[in-house]
Amino acid sequence: MNHTFYFIVGSQDLYGDDVLRKVAEHSKAMADGFSDALPYAVRWTPVVRNSAEIEAAIAAANHDPHCTGIITWMHTFSPSKMWIRGLTRLQKPLLHINTQFNRAIPWDSIDMDFMNLNQSAHGDREHGFITARLRLPRTVLAGHWQCETLRRRMAQWQRAAVGVAESRRLRVLRISDNMRDVAVTEGDKVEAHIKFGWQVDHYGVGDIIALVDAVTPDEIAAQMAQYREHYTMATEDIAAVEVQARVQVALQKFMQAEGFGAFHTNFQDLQQLRQLPGLAAQDLMRQGFGFAGEGDWKTAALCRIMKHMAEGLPGGTGFMEDYTYDFSRGLNMGAHMLEVCPTLAATKPQIRVEPLGIGDREPPARLTFKAAAGDAILATIVDMGDRFRMIVNDVQCVQQPHDMPRLPVAGVLWKPLPTLETSAEAWIFSGGAHHSVLSYGLDAETMRHVAEMLNIEFVHIGAHTSIPALRQELRYNDVIWKG
Ligand code: MN
Repeated sequence: MNHTFYFIVGSQDLYGDDVLRKVAEHSKAMADGFSDALPYAVRWTPVVRNSAEIEAAIAAANHDPHCTGIITWMHTFSPSKMWIRGLTRLQKPLLHINTQFNRAIPWDSIDMDFMNLNQSAHGDREHGFITARLRLPRTVLAGHWQCETLRRRMAQWQRAAVGVAESRRLRVLRISDNMRDVAVTEGDKVEAHIKFGWQVDHYGVGDIIALVDAVTPDEIAAQMAQYREHYTMATEDIAAVEVQARVQVALQKFMQAEGFGAFHTNFQDLQQLRQLPGLAAQDLMRQGFGFAGEGDWKTAALCRIMKHMAEGLPGGTGFMEDYTYDFSRGLNMGAHMLEVCPTLAATKPQIRVEPLGIGDREPPARLTFKAAAGDAILATIVDMGDRFRMIVNDVQCVQQPHDMPRLPVAGVLWKPLPTLETSAEAWIFSGGAHHSVLSYGLDAETMRHVAEMLNIEFVHIGAHTSIPALRQELRYNDVIWKG
């Protein structure tokens, strides 16, 4: 999908044609500059001068499936009553940039004409009033249009809008139900459909087994060639790897045919599947499918969305689970029983076949590796009953110096900010799940934009976090978000 952002520049007829020509010329140069610098194109649209033109420009943005958001800017003064009819119909994310074509004031030549033309400081305040008065979900970013900081922040907003666009069209494949008795992986699927756009559909394991049985030897061979291309075959039990290849082919064909972007399994309900999908789930994640274990459809969906948002950024994004602490170094080790995404790897992953106590099936093939070092975030969404809450923690992934000869799964070792203890207390006070999505490329600010666009609660745990302030924030949020 190609994502485009419409640049809608406001003015009015008061200033005459010469000024409007200058506004058009400047804003075209800015749109080109943004398109060159940002991850997604910014399309210039003709300068809007009145209510009818504003409404038409916003209707065009709404109706264009490739338009992922609009960026507004008032080069001159654009009286905001003219914007009410258009803005009340806006269905796409809104970024209002408060910028200016010239960086500095030309002291020797400045006159009233220059002031009339270059008055964003004035016009953007009028625009800001009406977006505030309408209580529109929006982002406001100020800075010179050629400034790197502004462009980096605009890129964060664009990635968030791309995530929301993916969210709105996402279909999630549930294979079986949630793990029995577990609370945090549950949630209101109708509300999720309304809020996020996720269509969450269940299929029985029998439906999947019929698809698995229909896979041909040629298809399995082609999938095995894919595995050999991307990974090191560190097992002689090729037949066990072929079991995963067969499951992967079946799932991948089904998800592509039916438009699913994410899926989950449940180890308690495998029926005649010979292995818990390990390598299969991992290689599907490598290709961009969202995944989570134990029936966790919310984390599977978030995994898909964040993978989409992180496209083109260095470092991987994938399903994660808090597992075990190293209190001696203030570290948390994340892993899963099998399904850790190979995009997180620092080295070429190895395919191994090892027994697994959980799931009560044949020893499953899986990828093992050590994860990359670097700054990252963990994100999760929980259902609080009256609203969804997104929780994001800044972490620093560190190199894993030790081998784990008796633990044949991939692991990620990170230092959570501000400290292991405060991060854990804050995450637990917030009701954060043990399942999350780890991303090296994305950051908390980008995820905050996502939460704001989706109109859900956002809790950020980072270097700034103190437990008393966080607890107060959670108490306030309970009032703000009362259903
Ligand atoms: Mn799990």
